[in-house]
Amino acid sequence: MKLFPDRKPKILVVDDVPLNVELLRTYLNTAGYLVFEAGNGEKALEMVAQKKPDLLLLDIMMPKMNGFEVCKRLKSDPKTRFIPIVMVTALQSVEDKVQGIEAGADDFITKPFNKMELLARVRSLLRIKFLYDELVKKIYQLDQAKKRLQQLAITDGLTGLYNYRFFKEQLLHEINRAARHNLSLSLVMLDIDNFKIYNDANGHPAGDEVLRRIAKLLQNNIRKIDIAARYGGEEFVIILPEASPESARVVTEKIRRLVEEEPIPFENKQPNGKLTVSLGLATYPTEAEDGKQLVSTADQRLYKAKQSGRNQVVFA
Ligand code: GH3
Ligand code: MG
Ligand code: MG
Repeated sequence: MKLFPDRKPKILVVDDVPLNVELLRTYLNTAGYLVFEAGNGEKALEMVAQKKPDLLLLDIMMPKMNGFEVCKRLKSDPKTRFIPIVMVTALQSVEDKVQGIEAGADDFITKPFNKMELLARVRSLLRIKFLYDELVKKIYQLDQAKKRLQQLAITDGLTGLYNYRFFKEQLLHEINRAARHNLSLSLVMLDIDNFKIYNDANGHPAGDEVLRRIAKLLQNNIRKIDIAARYGGEEFVIILPEASPESARVVTEKIRRLVEEEPIPFENKQPNGKLTVSLGLATYPTEAEDGKQLVSTADQRLYKAKQSGRNQVVFA
């Protein structure tokens, strides 16, 4: 790991005496640092927000807002608390140092400046600052990776819908919520009709494309609170929370019709000239006591839809 980044470290010099600023600027410039300056405390806070320096050299005695106050403010703000602050004190002033430590200062240099000592202290604090920056970056990357993994773990790779695992979890969650608040919840199970014939006639990749197409159609025609998932193979499920049996029937029938109407490549070779789906619908709590029963009832109705000729919805 690199200790210093590929850019010039940025240092903000805060002092109301231009001569002090000039001297510090010269020392810091020769050491390869990018120097900004502020002539008072308020300007210093402004420059910190604007320039995001890696370190501050902060004078104590300044009009309006003194160095202790600037230090306290920066150290109490989570966005700036890790910027190292070196306070510039008069030689021998123990009181200033004590007060500086209490305000959160990281180090001190005394006037008159000794160039070697100044640069050594600056370099040592910058090392810590850049380690901290690196740490923040790594934590962010870890967090992003974790979010991506969490998303992957609940997503079906082929269709982008939720997977079976997530469906099971959500069903339990939604059933509990419905029970608590006295709400209805409906479950749709959907299976593609004669999909084996489609695969055999047009190849597996074409079949995959159909699965993606139907997944998209489901996703585009449900509410935000509904949960569509791939149950497995060529079967899909939709959880419809807070849906009355009436509205659940309307949605389910609409999906059946939309699939029937959707132009799908090679569907003219299917048994009735179209690619269609069969659907079973069941509602909690009127038709099932729990999630398991709800799934099994919807599944039985799907089976019935198949037996009764396919391309239809079966409900209570
Ligand atoms: P039915 O109308 O009774 O549902 O008939 P079917 O042919 O759809 O049902 P069956 O269970 O006999 O066959 C399901 C087919 O779905 C067989 C399998 O190759 C296909 N299938 C399952 N998963 C996938 C997949 O991920 N991709 C593709 N292309 N086909 C799949
Ligand atoms: Mg099947
Ligand atoms: Mg099928």
